[in-house]
Amino acid sequence: MSVFDHPEFDQHESIHHFSDRATGLKAIIAIHSTVLGPAAGGCRRWRYDSGADALSDALRLSRGMTYKNAVAGLPFGGGKAVILADEQTRNSSQLLAAFGCAVDSLDGRYITAEDVGVTVDDMRLVRRETEYVSGLPQNGESAGGDPSPWTALGVFLSIEAAAQTRLGTDSLKGLRIAVQGVGSVGRHLCRLLHRAGARLVITDLNLRNLMRLRAEIPVSEVPVSEILYADVDIVAPCALGNVLNAETIPRIRAKVIAGAANNQLATDGDGARLAERGILYAPDYVINAGGIISCAREYLGQSSEEEVRAEVGRIPERLLALFREAKATAKPTNTLADELARRLVSDSTARESAASHRIA
Ligand code: NAD
Repeated sequence: MSVFDHPEFDQHESIHHFSDRATGLKAIIAIHSTVLGPAAGGCRRWRYDSGADALSDALRLSRGMTYKNAVAGLPFGGGKAVILADEQTRNSSQLLAAFGCAVDSLDGRYITAEDVGVTVDDMRLVRRETEYVSGLPQNGESAGGDPSPWTALGVFLSIEAAAQTRLGTDSLKGLRIAVQGVGSVGRHLCRLLHRAGARLVITDLNLRNLMRLRAEIPVSEVPVSEILYADVDIVAPCALGNVLNAETIPRIRAKVIAGAANNQLATDGDGARLAERGILYAPDYVINAGGIISCAREYLGQSSEEEVRAEVGRIPERLLALFREAKATAKPTNTLADELARRLVSDSTARESAASHRIA
């Protein structure tokens, strides 16, 4: 099958496959759009069942980055890298160097950063080979470093906004919140939720991540297969995508879904499925933009940490506007978010505003 016939193909500008015999690197970089600026989006390192699964992920994730960056008002288009991990993969530092060369070969059309399975230390190794990288160690008071605390902050503030809208409460105190995946973002999110008085139910495939959080704050644990159906007020998916689908949605008991994971909905129609059940869905790429806001400001070299905090603080305003529109139009929140993103990419004012911030 040609990539042009792939169900997730959405007029992507280019899709690049890289393989390096010496290090075992196998990677895909998908550039969905550079209309608003160079394609920015993280690099995911994951054990995919097949190359076809990796391609699907890269195509969907890169489109999501176009939408995320547009809605967040950033002067960047959308792209994403996936590295196919397997047990044969050799020395990680050499593999990341090879990945850095792959990014560099695109001459700045794609800018990389952290995503699932990739750390700040990994990005330092990538930086040796290319300047087109963000999420590097922070320098003094300026923006930068691990994006995941900023992602978690945006999601936390959005959970507060969603709780206010759907549950009519200004406080998370006493609310039961299930967090699926307590890796980089999920862990930070749990800390914020705990501080706000929420009661946490968590799960993860990674025992080390579970133990780390368990040692820090009070949590209840449920098996991986049960988390979405927990008897809670809010579910926050913070692991991988496609978790909200025809099979899972009928069993969900929570009234709000608001989490960090990209591509939570398996299909666009699953947004309507949630709405029909009275479950308020906070569109993933609207609320998880904190990390890319930090990376973008770091890359542009214009901002302080305080400015990033203020910008992340504006995420709930956008979410509340979508919730109001959903109520007024009876359209699902994900449909409205997609419409907004597409409008922004095709709107000439947004393009000009992005161009005025563009990197030389
Ligand atoms: P991570 O790799 O640090 O953490 C992911 C965690 O999810 C891991 O602990 C993993 O074991 C767990 N997990 C995977 N599959 C699971 C399953 N089926 N059930 C339970 N746990 C499972 O990744 P992260 O950076 O925290 O990212 C989490 C999600 O948020 C991803 O979808 C990512 O694309 C998205 N996201 C991350 C950022 C960021 O700043 N890191 C920004 C935006 C969106």
